[in-house]
Amino acid sequence: MTQIDRDQVLEILSKIELPDGTSLVQSPILSGLSVRGDHVGFAMDADQSEAFRSNPGSLASARAAAQSVLEADARISKATVVLTGGVAPDQVPTAAASPIAPPQPEPPKNNIKAIVAVGSGKGGVGKSTVAVNLAIAMAQLGKHVGLLDADVYGPSVQHLLKLSGEPEADGKMVQPMTASGIKAMTMGLLVDQSTPMIWRGPMVGSAILQLLNDVAWGSLDVLVVDMPPGTGDAQLTLAQRTPLAGAVIVSTPQDLALIDARKGIAMFEKVNVPILGLVENMSMFICPDCGSEHHIFNHGGAADAAAELSIPFLGALPLDMDIRTSSDAGAPIAAKLGSAQSTKFMEIAGQVLDQLEKSDALPPPRLVMA
Ligand code: ADP
Repeated sequence: MTQIDRDQVLEILSKIELPDGTSLVQSPILSGLSVRGDHVGFAMDADQSEAFRSNPGSLASARAAAQSVLEADARISKATVVLTGGVAPDQVPTAAASPIAPPQPEPPKNNIKAIVAVGSGKGGVGKSTVAVNLAIAMAQLGKHVGLLDADVYGPSVQHLLKLSGEPEADGKMVQPMTASGIKAMTMGLLVDQSTPMIWRGPMVGSAILQLLNDVAWGSLDVLVVDMPPGTGDAQLTLAQRTPLAGAVIVSTPQDLALIDARKGIAMFEKVNVPILGLVENMSMFICPDCGSEHHIFNHGGAADAAAELSIPFLGALPLDMDIRTSSDAGAPIAAKLGSAQSTKFMEIAGQVLDQLEKSDALPPPRLVMA
């Protein structure tokens, strides 16, 4: 079958009229259009138009019409149209100080027992590396695990797991990809990274909820969510709107990184998401030539910070060439059973699972009598 292109999608969408009589394709609310094989996605961002900013709900039927007119086309198997905006970034409600009730997490349609966020106060500390390896290590401990890459600013799971091709759609659900024993889906596969799109909080929250609900995750013990780095409104609304069982925070050991990690912890606590623990990444470098240990980014700071904040310290990962090269090769080190690094990731994964069992998010392991 011939593939649809961007211009043909715009032509289909030109039939959609907005409540103020303007055409959707001519309106600035059409944002981040992505056409990937038979998948089409875009956001209708109410904030981009004075007419709809104060009343984004008036766009609901235009959104539904856009989605059905696209899905009625034989060349399109799945259309993801997200309605976002209507709340200025500086007005995003916080649990602590807002006269407006924060949005309540919606239960996912899939059977997912526990959703765990992996967050960091800032980028570049190894959050995605830890998220991917942690998910694989949990799968090796016998759990059914999914990984949702919500890092809209730099989705990297595609690269880290060497995912290729287009996700397949089955009815109205998108099939997750599978790699290294886990299911995975990333915003990188759905949204065109080359299209300028400013992700504000409500947009990230809506898009992720759609991924939670429209991806056929099936039955999962744990869904690991690789969060966008930082503690801005995008991260906050995502933490508020996703029914999270807990959060793992990744930090490097230097003081400056830990200041950001503390902000990350405070953000999750503000919206009542339990902190499952802190991981110190790039903790020490062991010289491959002489075996001596070097603390390039300082050492032990995360353990001290965890003790001070009364949260569990989950473990320290070395700054290690194999962790980096295996990530670049799309074959995360946790999948290499028996390696020192995969053992470390399994220890951390075991602790996270323990925390989830303690908090009743996961049932305790069944005892099998011999
Ligand atoms: P973030 O998600 O926090 O931005 P990434 O996981 O993308 O960070 O990691 C940034 C870079 O650091 C990547 O090249 C990754 O391979 C590398 N990296 C992460 N953790 C380690 C580690 N423990 N040892 C060596 N390299 C690492």
